[in-house]
Order: sequence, then C-alpha cells, then structure tokens
Amino acid sequence: MRYGFLGMGIMGSAMATNLVKAGLDVTVWNRDGAKCDPLVQQGARQGRSPAEVAENCSVTFAMLSDPAAAESVCIGPDGVLEGMGPGKSYIDMSTIDPQTSCDLAEAVTEQGGRHLEAPVSGTKKPAEDGTLIILTAGDRTLYDEVGPVLDLMGKKRLFLGETGQAARMKLVVNMIMGGMMTAFSEGLTLADACHLKAEDLLDVLAAGALGNPMFAVKGPLMTRREFAPAFPLKHMEKDLRLAVELGGDHAKLMATAEAAQGLFRLALERGLGDEDFSAIHKTIAD
Ligand code: NAP
Repeated sequence: MRYGFLGMGIMGSAMATNLVKAGLDVTVWNRDGAKCDPLVQQGARQGRSPAEVAENCSVTFAMLSDPAAAESVCIGPDGVLEGMGPGKSYIDMSTIDPQTSCDLAEAVTEQGGRHLEAPVSGTKKPAEDGTLIILTAGDRTLYDEVGPVLDLMGKKRLFLGETGQAARMKLVVNMIMGGMMTAFSEGLTLADACHLKAEDLLDVLAAGALGNPMFAVKGPLMTRREFAPAFPLKHMEKDLRLAVELGGDHAKLMATAEAAQGLFRLALERGLGDEDFSAIHKTIAD
C-alpha cells in the first residue's frame, strides 16, 4: 500500500519521517521541492504534484500551513482532487477552520474519495518522537483503517464525530495555549521589572498547580532569548484569529484570545512570524 505526504514543513517532515522509518512506502511532495531531499535520502519517493501523489497513493496525508494552503493543495491546479477517486483517501492534518475543512471534505467525497480531518496537538519534538495527540473527525471507516498508521505519528488519537469537530477542538486547544503564552510572557516581564529572578518564578510555577511542560520547556529558552521555531509564531496568530472567529460564530466573547491575537498580530507586523511563538516575549518584554 502506498502513502502520500504533502507538506514537508517542520511538522510534516518529522511525521513523514516516522512513516518512512516504519518501512511504509511513502511518496512526499512539497511546494519547495528541496525540502523533500532528507526524506528521499531515507527512502521516500518524491511526487511531482499533489495530483500525482493522490493518484498513485491509496492514502494521502497533508500538513500545510493554513486554510489558503490547504485549499490550494487540495482543490487548486494540479491539486489532490485531480488524483482523487474511489478507493482513495485524503487525511488533512493541517490546522484550519472548520468551514474550509468541510468544503474540502465535500470536494473529496464528491470525487468518490474518503476524507478525514486530523489536526494534531504537540509540536516539533512530539512530531519527531511520534507522540502527537491526533484529533480526527469525518469518515469513521477511514479512521479505523488508518489507526495503525496514525499510531506511528501519535501517542493518542480521538475520533470526535462529523467533519469540523476536530478542527474546532484544535482551535479551542490552541486558543488556550496562545492565551497562556501571553500571560506567561507578561509574568516573566513583570517579575523582571520587580527584580525577581526568572529561575525563581519558574521554580514557583513548576512546584504548584500552574506547573506544565510548556512553561518548563519554553521558560528557560525565553529567558535566554532563544526562539528557534518549533511552532512558528505566524501559525499561532492564525490559530488565535480562527478561534476568535469561531467564538463569533457562537456569539461567545473571547476577550482573552482577542487580546492575545492582537499581541501576536503586532509581533507578526514586527517580522517575528518565522520565529517560535514564544518570541511573543520580544514584543511584550522588550
Ligand atoms: P511550516 O514549517 O511553516 O510548514 C508549512 C508547510 O505548508 C510547508 O510545507 C509549506 O511549503 C506549505 N505551504 C504553505 N503555503 C503553501 C501553499 N500556498 N501551497 C503549498 N504549500 C504551502 O509549518 P508547520 O509548523 O509544519 O505547521 C504545519 C501545520 O501544522 C500548520 O497548520 C500549523 O498550525 C500546524 N501545527 C504546527 C505545530 C508546530 O508546533 N509547528 C503543531 C501543531 C500543529 P513550503 O516549504 O514550500 O513553504
């Protein structure tokens, strides 16, 4: 059985690597083709277009930056849809809004294919370690069939129902994370202004109910001003924007998320989009 993987960014390259390492027959594609080289060196085939990959593979995964990229790769020229048909499946793992996901699912199923949305929680290291949390919704039979393959990429997976539900869950989770990061950065900033040591603040947080892996991992890096991208800041801005829109759809006030999004948008305007999302600290602290 052949598997396709579209999008060799930070996450996609790590996830596809785990499929190749497990001995699966994997064909990769990326807009900037050079990013496929490490995968090809490890035994993957390289496809010429999303259409060609979808045509030659039974199941094609995608891990793309945002709704526009997901749309372009699926329904654009030379897109997945051109290679889609009965017996073929498309699993989009990108973080996108539920409406776009539903539109793509409809397009895929109209061509006779099966669709699963499967955004992930977890960042670069869990992607490398195969310990992501995979949130899925859509075609249940496809979910059941590809379970063992999803398990090569993640440590936990959930099926959340009809298409859109996994996209919504992902946005809720990242909305919480974005708000936590801005609050954390403000805490580090205020502690510093009060001549309190960052390591003491981190120690206090870790010892109590506020202890969590994100603060533990990002805290020391932020105090050392190290912002190599694991989760690019531009994607957090996108996720907060989509979450605030989702709140609007349900007439719910997302005041904290809106404030956080404003800060991330400012950081984006300051050219920090390709740095890690913790680089919001540069906008808050400096
Ligand atoms: P990334 O490193 O920025 O990679 C983005 C990928 O999308 C690249 O392969 C890029 O291709 C491709 N792309 C962008 N625009 C495109 C277009 N118009 N047409 C075709 N391909 C396009 O991002 P990432 O960190 O891997 O994240 C990918 C997705 O996972 C995003 O939705 C993100 O929100 C989500 N996510 C990320 C993390 C994380 O910690 N990094 C965690 C969970 C979820 P090029 O290389 O040619 O630019």
